[in-house]
Amino acid sequence: MQSTLRRTVTAVAKSQLRSNAAILGALNTRCYSSTHEADVVVIGSGPGGYVAAIKAAQMGMKAISVEKEATLGGTCLNVGCIPSKALLNNSHYYHMAHSGDLAARGINCGSVSLDLEKLMGQKTTAVKALTGGIAMLFKKNKVTQLTGFGSIVGPNEVQVKKDDGSTETIKAKNIVIATGSEVTPFPGITIDEEVIVSSTGALKLAQVPKQMVVIGAGVIGLELGSVWSRLGAEVTAVEFMDTIGGVGIDNEVSKSFQKILAKQGLKFKLGTKVMAATRNGDSVTVSVENAKSGEKEELQCDALLVSVGRRPYTEGLGLESVGIVKDDRGRIPVNATFQTVVPSIYAIGDCIHGPMLAHKAEDEGLITIEGINGGHVHIDYNCVPSVVYTHPEVAWVGKTEEVLKQEGVAYKMGKFPFLANSRAKTNNDTDGFVKVLADQATDRVLGTHIIGPAAGELINEAVLAMEYGASAEDIARVCHAHPTCAEALREANVAAAFGKPINF
Ligand SMILES: Cc1cc2nc3c(=O)[nH]c(=O)nc-3n(C[C@H](O)[C@H](O)[C@H](O)COP(=O)(O)OP(=O)(O)OC[C@H]3O[C@@H](n4cnc5c(N)ncnc54)[C@H](O)[C@@H]3O)c2cc1C
Repeated sequence: MQSTLRRTVTAVAKSQLRSNAAILGALNTRCYSSTHEADVVVIGSGPGGYVAAIKAAQMGMKAISVEKEATLGGTCLNVGCIPSKALLNNSHYYHMAHSGDLAARGINCGSVSLDLEKLMGQKTTAVKALTGGIAMLFKKNKVTQLTGFGSIVGPNEVQVKKDDGSTETIKAKNIVIATGSEVTPFPGITIDEEVIVSSTGALKLAQVPKQMVVIGAGVIGLELGSVWSRLGAEVTAVEFMDTIGGVGIDNEVSKSFQKILAKQGLKFKLGTKVMAATRNGDSVTVSVENAKSGEKEELQCDALLVSVGRRPYTEGLGLESVGIVKDDRGRIPVNATFQTVVPSIYAIGDCIHGPMLAHKAEDEGLITIEGINGGHVHIDYNCVPSVVYTHPEVAWVGKTEEVLKQEGVAYKMGKFPFLANSRAKTNNDTDGFVKVLADQATDRVLGTHIIGPAAGELINEAVLAMEYGASAEDIARVCHAHPTCAEALREANVAAAFGKPINF
């Protein structure tokens, strides 16, 4: 009897405590602001920010990550690298089946049809798994995660505004800004993300457009243009420059790239300016003008992708409150240790200078934290690789022939076509080549440019070599597994070092 009474009293007390806690919790979120203390607070959880937060925690710092969106991972995981690569991969499979490539290999699929919803579903699954993975990594490494909009209110203070209206204050020894970038608008063209889309809208079109015009034949325009072209759209890329592939691509590679993509069905209007675009119901009229002749033309499409680049995102961050003045391109100026003019505030990734790439942001995140902990901070942007994940892929690191000529550097070149590479030949995937540029006098590798199968993987070997100051002969003398596409990279280095490759 007594024990039953005790159990009843305990149960009542527990339930009272639970409801008190619930009331307190509700009051906390609705009315009060709480304060956290940290060694480092990172604003933004893209590849720069989340990696910085984890590294800080791993180095024994109390780290807090602030992210305004419901999911972690930033542009890269949510609307950038990851969803675009999911679509590129699966549209490539579809294209192989649909174009008869698989049939030519003896794989008959019967009639091939596209289930766009399912294809998009696989992309969403990949994004969910990876963004959720960051949340797990935060837990594992004891990074505190706050969801809300972060703004800097002092050299050591960040305020976080949450969706429910409450605020939290973080007092931190160090603040790392990793707020990334946003789509650069095209003057006079309104993006509705339905018919006139940015890269974000182009990742989730509800149906395959009949005709798509892409403004800008840079990396993102070509990747997403390829996706929709493979899925059945007639794609025309309009580009102001005379070459495709964006900044930093080698001219010879760019020309070859254009030819290969044209063979796949993409159309190009180079040296052409977009003057205006008008939506009429479900279609768009794009007015273009040849940059040299002034000849005007109107293009009709049912999807217009505006892909003219990205710009740093620092909206509402409160930079002015601490005296940080952005440069003429809206970037946050930092020194070699990624420190802003305020010694306790650092900035990394797309919101500062340098290539707007996920791996560059990650590296900056890591070394900034190491620097805060007294480590040596160094990054060589010349050794940051670029990859276009089309088929074939295009990848490069270091200097192009054009830059070496401009700089008056005497160089030698070694080239090897995938047509002569046993693995590429076996796989019937022989478009492209590897081109290595090495210093004429010292043989040191100055640049590597690849168009071909798995270029995005192969380039990492060239990056490693360049980071360690390798010569072409160093790479040529390293044993490479056979049969692999990497042998083409070796052969290009053999050609640079000794004048001729073996297998061509
Ligand atoms: C379609 C597309 C494809 C791409 N493909 C590739 C690729 O294949 N490889 C590659 O290297 N790069 C690619 N990129 C570029 C890559 O996504 C960026 O370079 C990278 O995401 C930059 O990382 P970041 O950490 O600097 O910023 P971001 O990834 O932009 O993250 C910034 C984060 O900060 C948050 N934030 C901003 N302000 C605040 C605030 N005040 N408070 C709280 N949170 C805030 C944002 O919500 C965001 O989550 C691609 C981009 C696009 C658009």
